[in-house]
Amino acid sequence: MSGSGPRNGFTHEDGIDVVVIGAGAGGLNAALVLARARRRVVVVDSGAPRNAPSAHLQGFLSRDGMAPSALLETGRAEVVGYGGEFITGTVDAVDRGGEDVAPRFTVRLDGGVVLTARRVVVATGLRDELPDIPGVRERWGRDLLHCPYCHGYEVRDQPLGVLGTTPGAVRHALLLRQWSDDVVLFRHRLELTEDERTALAAREVSVVEGAVKRLVVEDDRLRGVELAQAGQVDRSAVFVVPRMVPRDGLLTALGCERGAEGPVATDRSGRTSVPGVWAVGNVVDSRALVVGSAGMGSAAAFALNHGLVDEDIELAVRAAARTSA
Ligand SMILES: Cc1cc2nc3c(=O)[nH]c(=O)nc-3n(C[C@H](O)[C@H](O)[C@H](O)COP(=O)(O)OP(=O)(O)OC[C@H]3O[C@@H](n4cnc5c(N)ncnc54)[C@H](O)[C@@H]3O)c2cc1C
Repeated sequence: MSGSGPRNGFTHEDGIDVVVIGAGAGGLNAALVLARARRRVVVVDSGAPRNAPSAHLQGFLSRDGMAPSALLETGRAEVVGYGGEFITGTVDAVDRGGEDVAPRFTVRLDGGVVLTARRVVVATGLRDELPDIPGVRERWGRDLLHCPYCHGYEVRDQPLGVLGTTPGAVRHALLLRQWSDDVVLFRHRLELTEDERTALAAREVSVVEGAVKRLVVEDDRLRGVELAQAGQVDRSAVFVVPRMVPRDGLLTALGCERGAEGPVATDRSGRTSVPGVWAVGNVVDSRALVVGSAGMGSAAAFALNHGLVDEDIELAVRAAARTSA
């Protein structure tokens, strides 16, 4: 555990206001605002942020082009500077006790560490499930990409491909036309409707028929896509729409309700249906980019701190009543 500042030296049994689970942009920004609000914050992180395979982080005002790891290291240092602490590890379970006005959480880590806290912020992100095509996993985040807003500009005007592995691939190919006029949809096993074929043709996105065999890589660079039956199509970068699976097991085990669209539901400040449990970033919103996840963390910290102030008032009023009784 690392950390410094006026709040250090407490034991985990008696004084943690908030355990933040996950130190990506969402968790770190929550921790930063809470630590600056003089809350005792412990951040637990297993060290696998989603964008780690990428060399550069794009589209975050003033951070554009930075290494993803540099952003997180900077954020950690800022949190530590205000007295926040970090534990490297995986949270296996969170149990809730106490009363609704003053919930208490037991946070169990692999390796046996147990923390108790007044609130938890779950910022565990999501897992990208990639198609089982040779080369895809190896090139992920380099020249096998998913987000045009993150990487489109860097591959603008180049020959691009989209793998037809999920229904969203058609929309993705049409979206990518914004960045290049040479976009190919590898149909693979995707069925296309007449309307989709019409739209693709109208926007001059070619459809390559046949199953994809593998990505062709030479000298550590993607060169193209090899088809099972019909040779190779040269491409500089290929996009895919992964199946995004939220890492929300801790939330669902606590009883947090899902929304109609599938992910665990929160209000605009990240409050879940279970009092005292907050969730931010990709674990509840797969569309949130780094700046959005950071914003969610900040908003949650605000609202969470207000709830702690209300709890402090309630407990103080009760204590005063007992004293005067
Ligand atoms: C290849 C790629 C490139 C991207 N490029 C960009 C880009 O250029 N710009 C941009 O804005 N967005 C980009 N994104 C999106 C970006 O990665 C996400 O928006 C962002 O990571 C979401 O932040 P988060 O805090 O929700 O989750 P994450 O950053 O994924 O952090 C979650 C953290 O929680 C930890 N964790 C998970 N479970 C546990 C547990 N049980 N106990 C303890 N710790 C746990 C993980 O180890 C991880 O460190 C990219 C995504 C990918 C896949």
